[in-house]
Amino acid sequence: MKESPQATKLDRMLRSSKLVAGGFMGDDARSAAEVIDADIAELSRLGFTTEQLASRMQEITDKAKGGLGTRIKVDDKRQAMAEEAKGPAICPWPHPGRYVKRVTTVERLDSGKTVRWSDLNIHLIAEHSFFEGRGSAFRIQPAKLIDVIF
Ligand SMILES: [Zn+2]
Repeated sequence: MKESPQATKLDRMLRSSKLVAGGFMGDDARSAAEVIDADIAELSRLGFTTEQLASRMQEITDKAKGGLGTRIKVDDKRQAMAEEAKGPAICPWPHPGRYVKRVTTVERLDSGKTVRWSDLNIHLIAEHSFFEGRGSAFRIQPAKLIDVIF
């Protein structure tokens, strides 16, 4: 299928290092639309929606913020930490939106598995169903995320 000029422009933006070092696509050869379709299909197989994920991620980040950079207990099964960095994070989609450069790391106490995300990841998942390309610094694998946060 031929990509629309708009999708091509978005793909170029997602691959450039202008907004984030290494870009949002890593070494993933697929188009952004293909990455999104594959992740939505995986989510649907697992019985989850992007809204459920984003809402749970936001809930954990909001709790972790209270720890001011130290680990805090989220619930009986998880602990989390939120760290802020300098500067804004900007959504690569063409709309206004700046996010705090905050990274939340959550750990499941029973398995020791961890997942981390930025505030921008939450927005990208909630609004664009985008989990980033394979090999990008903040790629989130839906199954791994679900395993740790639910
Ligand atoms: Zn956006």
